[in-house]
Amino acid sequence: MTEILEGPEAIVAAIARLGLGQPIAFPTETVYGLGADALDNDAVERVFALKGRPTTNPLIVHVAGCEMVDELVEEWSSDAQKLADAFWPGSLTLVLNKSELVPDIVTAGGPTVAIRCPSHPMALGLIESYGKPIVGPSANPSGWISPTTADHVARGFAGQDVLILEGGACRAGIESTVVDLTGDAPIVLRPGVISTDQISKVLGVDVQIKQHQDEDIARSPGTTGAHYQPAKPTLLKETAELGAAGPDIYVISWSGDVADDARSSSLPEDAAGYARGLYNAMHEADASDASQIWIERPPKTDDENHNQEDAPIWHAVMERLNRACHPTV
Ligand code: AMP
Ligand code: MG
Repeated sequence: MTEILEGPEAIVAAIARLGLGQPIAFPTETVYGLGADALDNDAVERVFALKGRPTTNPLIVHVAGCEMVDELVEEWSSDAQKLADAFWPGSLTLVLNKSELVPDIVTAGGPTVAIRCPSHPMALGLIESYGKPIVGPSANPSGWISPTTADHVARGFAGQDVLILEGGACRAGIESTVVDLTGDAPIVLRPGVISTDQISKVLGVDVQIKQHQDEDIARSPGTTGAHYQPAKPTLLKETAELGAAGPDIYVISWSGDVADDARSSSLPEDAAGYARGLYNAMHEADASDASQIWIERPPKTDDENHNQEDAPIWHAVMERLNRACHPTV
C-alpha cells in the first residue's frame, strides 16, 4: 500500500527506508521524485523496476549542495560553479563527467552523470539528513503523466509499497532544464523553466537547445519521445476547434473558449502558471470518465498580446505537450 506522511516524522521514516535500499517518493519544486541512495546499486535497480523505466534512460542525482558533488564528478568546472552559484538550489540539472563512485546503473552505463540541487525545503531536508546523494526520477510509472502532488504519486503506484512524503503542489510543475557541460560547448538537452538566455548570460556564451536528430525520429516514427502521456487518447487542438468538443471530451484550455457541454480545466494564460498547473489538469482529465482529452495549443508567443518573456517556458511546455499528445486517435 502507498502511504503519505508529512512533517518531521515523514523524513525520519524516509531515511530509514533509504538506508534499507527501499525507494521513497519525495517532493521537489519541479515534480515529485522517486528517491533511492544514488550510490547503492541495488536500491537504484529497484527504482528502475518500480517505474518500469528502461535502463537505457539515466537518472538525475540530487544533492543538498555543491559539497556533495565533488565525489560524484571527475571535474567540477568553472562553468559548473557559475551555474550552481546562479541557479542552485533550483531547477537546473548539470551533466558532468562522472567519478568511479557513481554506479553505472545510475548513468545507464555512460561516462556522464546528471546532478541537481533541488530547492524544495523537504527535498533539501531529506538529502541533508540522509547525508548522501539520492536519485530522483519523476515518481510515476515510466511514460505516464509526471506527478506534481502526493496524490498523483499515490495514484501512479496504487497497491504498491511506496512511502510518499507530502510536500504540497510543486511550484514549477515541469521537469528541470538539463544542460550538458561535457562537450566543446554547453548545450541544453531538455528545456525547462530556466531558459537558455539565462544560462547564456551566466556563462557569457550563446547556449542552444539540442535539436532531435532526424534519424532518431526515422528509427521509430510516431513513438519517438512519447512520454508524459495520459492513458486516454490526448490531442493537441487549436483554439478555434474547441467549440466542437462534446460531453465526452475533457478540454484543458487557457483561453476559456470551450463549448458549454464539454468538461474542462482552465489553466492560467501566463506560461509559469500554465506550467505549474498542466500535469494536475492532465491527471484530472485522465481520472475523469471522458473518452478523450483535448489540450488547447498554447498561445503563439510572437503575438503582441503575449508576454515575450514567457516564450522559453512555453517552449518547454510545448516539448512536453508534443510528447504527451497522440499523433492521431
Ligand atoms: P526524469 O528523471 O524523468 O526527469 O528524466 C531525467 C532526464 O535527465 C532524462 O531526460 C535523462 O535522459 C536526462 N539525463 C540523466 N542523466 C543524464 C546524462 N548522464 N546525460 C544526459 N542526460 C541525462
Ligand atoms: Mg520522468
